[in-house]
Amino acid sequence: MTADVDYDIIIVGAGAVGLAVARALAVREETSVLIIEKEMGFGQGTSSRNSEVIHSGIYYPASSLKAKYCLAGREPLYAFCRENDVWNSKCGKLVVAKAGQESQLEALHRQAETNAVPELCMMSRSEIAAAEPEVSAESAMFVGCTGIVSAHELMSAYHRVSAEADHDMLLKAVVVDADRKGDSYALQVEGPGDAAYAVTARWVVNSAGLHSDTIAQLLWGSDDPSRPALRYSKGAYFKLSGKWRHRVERLVYPLPDAEHDSLGIHLSFDQAGDMKLGPDAAWVDNRSEDYTVKAEDSDLFYREAKQYLPALERDDLSPDYSGIRPKLEETADGHSDFYIRHEPDCPGWINLIGIDSPGLTASLAIGEEVAGWIVD
Ligand SMILES: Cc1cc2nc3c(=O)[nH]c(=O)nc-3n(C[C@H](O)[C@H](O)[C@H](O)COP(=O)(O)OP(=O)(O)OC[C@H]3O[C@@H](n4cnc5c(N)ncnc54)[C@H](O)[C@@H]3O)c2cc1C
Repeated sequence: MTADVDYDIIIVGAGAVGLAVARALAVREETSVLIIEKEMGFGQGTSSRNSEVIHSGIYYPASSLKAKYCLAGREPLYAFCRENDVWNSKCGKLVVAKAGQESQLEALHRQAETNAVPELCMMSRSEIAAAEPEVSAESAMFVGCTGIVSAHELMSAYHRVSAEADHDMLLKAVVVDADRKGDSYALQVEGPGDAAYAVTARWVVNSAGLHSDTIAQLLWGSDDPSRPALRYSKGAYFKLSGKWRHRVERLVYPLPDAEHDSLGIHLSFDQAGDMKLGPDAAWVDNRSEDYTVKAEDSDLFYREAKQYLPALERDDLSPDYSGIRPKLEETADGHSDFYIRHEPDCPGWINLIGIDSPGLTASLAIGEEVAGWIVD
């Protein structure tokens, strides 16, 4: 620590990813870390508005960062949960196909094998019915290494390790500007309240979720089209009435929705066994952060889920919550990827942009990588 910087490392954003970076720094060596978060507490952004699924890694092109960090992060995440008393369940999931979709399911199976995802098994209609009497499909792929986790407990565990290492966290504080000063960075911060000041550090980790591209632009400017920029994709959920509690034991996914680069409206459940459907995917204009879930949208959810859940009735659905995916532009094959980089033209500045799904699953692995770049 030198006299002219306040901290060794500043982390912008206290979601699952920023907290995972803090955790990984805490278990390495003593460094002074400040986490800056604009909300009243940690984990109030996308990290608490998702499906809480520990993804297997079957969907992503093998060369993508999503595949890299999801595959590297999944098993260590289960282990971290066990060691830190974070609720989770390795319940597995079924990806179901209707008649006529068998070749798509086979293609997904090949992708899963290419990605070396373990615990895969193809199932026939009768095998599906025997395993999950409520679920109807022509065929399915069972993925045994998929599970669910309490996102809040996970973030609390990351935060605990960080706090025990005496990291500081500034809440209700918004990073509004950034400047490079020699080999360090000065961040202008507003809040809490009327406070306005600068904090400096040699390293900055930009894990600002939906705002991560604009935080990067504080350094880069906003007029370079080659820099990463986000579009928002909203995903809403509908909960199922109590009569559905515990009636399905595995997560149930349709085949992915390529048009919207989403996994399709799936059936998942929480710690209490309460079932929910979602998320759908709708592009958001003007980057509005409107989390309203409209009751009239239930038609789509009913229609989609009825195809694999024949006993579902319209009245079983009621609006739940929604989340917004920070998505980078898609590549030619229709997939958007993470942008995770120690910027070569800005030494000490690390950008984590476009961390949509499977960002929760990948968080531990991303934290390890970033902390390694800083400390090792
Ligand atoms: C509908 C949906 C379903 C999903 N399902 C899954 C799933 O099942 N499994 C999975 O692995 N992943 C899933 N994801 C993805 C996962 O939720 C995200 O990848 C992950 O939560 C991203 O974490 P983060 O820390 O990058 O972002 P966030 O949680 O958004 O954290 C960023 C933080 O930065 C703060 N911030 C922003 N700007 C500033 C500023 N200027 N100053 C200070 N603080 C700032 C924000 O307040 C926020 O707290 C899903 C996402 C969505 C939207």
